[in-house]
Amino acid sequence: MFSKILIANRGEIALRVVRAAREMGVATVAVHSTADADAMHVRMADESVCIGPASGAQSYLNVAAIVSACEITGAEAIHPGYGFLSENAAFVQVLEDHDITFIGPTAEHIRVMGDKITAKETMRKLGVPCVPGSEGGVPDLQTAELMAAEIGFPVIVKATAGGGGRGMKLARSAADLENAFRTARSEAKAAFGNDEVYIEKYLGTPRHIEVQVFGDGRGRAVHLGERDCSLQRRHQKVLEEAPGPAITPEQRAEIGRTCAEAVARINYAGAGTIEFLYEDGNFYFIEMNTRLQVEHPVTEAVYGVDLVREQINVAAGLPMSFIQEDLRLNGHAIEVRINAEKLPNFSPSPGRITQYHAPGGLGVRMDSALYDGYRIPPYYDSLIGKLIVHGRDRDEALARLRRSLGEIIVDGVDTTIPLFAELVEDPDIRAGNYTIHWLEDWLARNLA
Ligand code: ADP
Repeated sequence: MFSKILIANRGEIALRVVRAAREMGVATVAVHSTADADAMHVRMADESVCIGPASGAQSYLNVAAIVSACEITGAEAIHPGYGFLSENAAFVQVLEDHDITFIGPTAEHIRVMGDKITAKETMRKLGVPCVPGSEGGVPDLQTAELMAAEIGFPVIVKATAGGGGRGMKLARSAADLENAFRTARSEAKAAFGNDEVYIEKYLGTPRHIEVQVFGDGRGRAVHLGERDCSLQRRHQKVLEEAPGPAITPEQRAEIGRTCAEAVARINYAGAGTIEFLYEDGNFYFIEMNTRLQVEHPVTEAVYGVDLVREQINVAAGLPMSFIQEDLRLNGHAIEVRINAEKLPNFSPSPGRITQYHAPGGLGVRMDSALYDGYRIPPYYDSLIGKLIVHGRDRDEALARLRRSLGEIIVDGVDTTIPLFAELVEDPDIRAGNYTIHWLEDWLARNLA
């Protein structure tokens, strides 16, 4: 086991990693920007190193400073959290060259899954169901027209290098295709410096279902069921739950086995998430995230495992602590993402927290780096906390969500807590009856 690890992140996820490491007897090094000198992750870690000025590009993305921090402190491994450098293959390559262990998959796996066409091709070959579409980049409009006619309208034109929902254009009919093709290409060029696009069948009313997988890097892998993350605003997840209300035990076992076998065959190491659109009983692969997800705690709640501990173990060369048969789904969990944002426009609301009180009690987990008097800096993501509730069934989880939303106090800034207080009363949410468009429609009706 490592004696010391460095956490190349901030906020609640840095704290999350400190907590797992401390339980394992592993010392931690926090890194921080000048704007985060007073942050909770810095206070909670055993040591800390300032790695640059406020801007993320000069601090949490500053590879040279992070590698130096490792060398100065003698940290043997780096946990990247999510975001920042967590899916940066070049960073992982640099660590390999410096004999620092990356707590995550290999640079090669990150590279393969980071390119959407290669990812899809790899998954298709591994037997994972994909959205019907072009089997590679589409070079020109004429090919696009042929492909679209074959797939059938509506189709979606997507950037190979895409991310964050950019470079994606819908064509409802042949008349829309030329425009969709040209705009997707120019957006992709502007956003990613690569104008390659591909075409997929457009699914009208899907749910977003993602399967948690975990591999030991030596050909063994398990799945930990699915999460339904359909409630999204601008392609950003807002509320996640496990298990998915629309997924049957048989479907879970089947898609789970398919995903676990796929990652076992490529010797995948650590935590990964295989994302699908789900419609009419069918799963369609869209992408794989080669890291820990924001919403991992709902899976931890229902399977009773510590995914970060498991990541650290596997990175240290130890076997996974469970096999598939050990993993039993227990009850239901829901997570809501609390952002410092002002409704109805979700504009960022940084500032000083005058009072903070976390909810508690049976089945309630609050992952947050807030404290009384903390000043939320304006430079980073607006996520300030994740409230995760667990119950014996979905109704109990909803009752705990309602109860704990009533207990939270976050004063001094605007937050998305009032949104969740309304959502938890909505008949569709209570029935688990929603698709990826539900929240945008609801917001247009209720907050406009
Ligand atoms: P990104 O990496 O940019 O987030 P994804 O491929 O993960 O792109 O897709 C993001 C979102 O776009 C999905 O969650 C879904 O809402 C929508 N989307 C992507 N592909 C399709 C499709 N074939 N049909 C319908 N919606 C899609």
